[in-house]
Formats: sequence, C-alpha cells, structure tokens
Amino acid sequence: MDVLRYRSELLTWYDANKRDMPWRRTRDPYAILVSEVMLQQTQVSRVEAYWTRFLERFPTVEALAAAAEDDVCSVWSGLGYYHRARNLRKAAEAIARSGGDVPGTAELLRELPGIGAYTAAAVASIAFGEAVPVLDANVVRVLARLLAESEVVTRAPVRRRLEAAAVELLDPERSGDFNQAMMELGAVVCSPASPDCGRCPVGVHCLARSTGNPGEFPVTRGAARTKEMYETAALVVRRGRVLLTSDPDERGWWPGLWRLPRVVSGAGSEGAASRETKLHTLLLDDFGLTCDALVPVTTTAYGVTTNRVTLDVVSCSSPRGALRRARSIRWFTVGEALSLGVPAADRRILELHGPSLTGQ
Ligand code: SF4
Repeated sequence: MDVLRYRSELLTWYDANKRDMPWRRTRDPYAILVSEVMLQQTQVSRVEAYWTRFLERFPTVEALAAAAEDDVCSVWSGLGYYHRARNLRKAAEAIARSGGDVPGTAELLRELPGIGAYTAAAVASIAFGEAVPVLDANVVRVLARLLAESEVVTRAPVRRRLEAAAVELLDPERSGDFNQAMMELGAVVCSPASPDCGRCPVGVHCLARSTGNPGEFPVTRGAARTKEMYETAALVVRRGRVLLTSDPDERGWWPGLWRLPRVVSGAGSEGAASRETKLHTLLLDDFGLTCDALVPVTTTAYGVTTNRVTLDVVSCSSPRGALRRARSIRWFTVGEALSLGVPAADRRILELHGPSLTGQ
C-alpha cells in the first residue's frame, strides 16, 4: 500500500467531511479526556448533551476532583456504565494531586483509573499530538477490511498484525486527526453491515473491496447473543418517601447507584409469582419490612450490556417495620431521589409513578 497516499486521501476527506462535535472545538486536554471516557461504549449523538452538561458542572480537573461521587453520578445519570463516572472522578483526583495537568503520553494516561489502551491513545494523540494509533472497534473493522484479514480478529496474532498496520499507516504529523479520521471512516462509511465503498476515500487501497464482499470482513466468532432477564422491583412508599437501595459492589452493573429494591428470576407468570414471593422475603429479611400486598403498577424493559431485562414494577401496600440496615437503604422524597445517581429505568419509574404514590 502507498502509505503516504493513504494518509493524504484519508485526511483530505476528513478535513472536508468531519462531523461537528463540541469536543472537536477544544484543545483542553481535560475536556478531551471527558469526551473520550463518555464515548466508550456510547454513541456520539448521546454523548453531546452529557459532555456539555458535565463540563458546565465540573469545568476543571480540580472541580471534578473535589466533587462528591453522588453528584458526579447524578450528572452522568442516563449515560450508563457508571463505573466510568466513578473512575473519571478518581482520575481527576490523581491528576489534581500531581499538579493538575492531564498526563501528556498514552503510557502515563494508562496509569489513571479506568483509562485503557484505547482511551489513552485517543487522548494522547488528540490533545497532545503523540504518534500512537487508536484501535477501537471501528478502526479494527477498517483495518481488517483494508487488509482483507481472513482470520478471527480477536486472536492475538491477528491483533498484532492489525496493530502493526495501524502504526505504519498513522500520520505522525497529524496523529490526532488521523486517528479521528479512521474512527470517523468506520462510523459513517465503513459501517459493520453495509460498507459504502462507493463513497470511501481510501477504497483504492482496500483488499476487502476487491473481493466483492467487504461486508464479510472482519471475521468474528459470532456476535454475543442477547440474554433475556426478568426482574420485579418494588415501589415502597411511606410518609411520602420512597425506599431506595444502593449496591456497594464495585463489580456489579450499578455500583453506588440508588435503585428500587428488586429481585430477579425466570420468565412468565410463574416467574412473576416466584419473584413476588422473593420480594416479600427480601423486604422482610434484608430490610425488616412487611406489607399487605404487592400491587402491579407497570411493566417496562431496559437493556444493560447484552441483556434485555423485562421489569415488572409493583407497589407495596401498607409497608411497616423498621429498616434493618441504614447504610445502603434509605427513604427519599421523589425530588431527592431524582437528584441522585439513579439508573435510567428507575428514573423513568420514579418520574412516572413516584409523585402519585408519594402524594407529591
Ligand atoms: Fe470499508 Fe469499503 Fe472503504 Fe474498504 S472500500 S475501507 S470496505 S468502505
């Protein structure tokens, strides 16, 4: 491949066609770091509003380092993968402790909590111009197609081949733009299911295109299957306040977030009945509460990683008893609850049903 020509064609296309994103208008390494952490596993269109709001609330590393974790999660609320928010705050603390400057190399960035190879390379190249390639899913797909890589791309030797190609192609003079151009190409032209080769600025270099079936690359072992899950959550309301619990397990999906108490089990009406029994047990054994009946309120659904969760919501009539544990179980007004870090599904339920149940 003519590497110089490839760089020139890709960057010319990028300069003329790049999407306008707010973080592309700043040189502030902290703001760029926030954008790259938010963009992990999340689409650009969702990140834009969150990024702007987050930086209004925490405009500097020092502001984020000094913030309470609940406040950070609250601003992050709805963006998902909350460990990113917590790690970003910890990273800000580490940066503030060492003088307040975001580290300028990928190697140093990787020492920060929650910063992996992809984010470190993206920040180092975009904010500081370090000549390190980014290999996110979009870039891996583009490279696998350019090379018509016939083996499974997650295999270590294949990964090394793609990394070597990424290093060779990278334009050291404009590494940040080049990395963004590769990601942009994968996002808007070389899409997973239907690459738009007729519009591709680097199609002349692409071996997959010359096979006539570019969509067959990259070779994977098969996409992860969606797993169905079923939950029942309880709206327990007493004296105008709703009961929420917080999972302190850092390895869980919702570490540190406040949620309605809930149980998980199998599908169908039998599953729903068994979940209600479990819910009574949970309320009594874990919280010290009893109630007369569990009354259906609504059924909703949400996604988390590769799981599709069907969520039955019930309200507990006449709850009574004294809370057994104080630390991770608390009563909140609906207004207080909505100001906390609360997952999007629970937030929707509280917004829709909280006021009528609490009389607020
Ligand atoms: Fe992707 Fe087609 Fe461009 Fe190859 S020619 S990089 S398959 S869009």
